[in-house]
Amino acid sequence: MARFLLFIVLIYVFYWICKRVVTHLAQGASDKKSKRASAEKIVKCTYCGTYIPESESKAINSEDENSDRICKNQPCKK
Ligand SMILES: [Zn+2]
Repeated sequence: MARFLLFIVLIYVFYWICKRVVTHLAQGASDKKSKRASAEKIVKCTYCGTYIPESESKAINSEDENSDRICKNQPCKK
């Protein structure tokens, strides 16, 4: 009888550890996603003054990546 109870306790402990590991992994994945989203550089459009993610902007002078940037998706007019 004692062995049977020990077996039940071991199953419960194993289940509890698995649950903790799964929860920890899920939290780690969501933390990575939010870090990646917030790590993108924000630049200011030279023409309209809107702040946009660098991936949604383009350099006016394509040879110089550090030059002024404008909106890529909604082209600005001078
Ligand atoms: Zn713009």
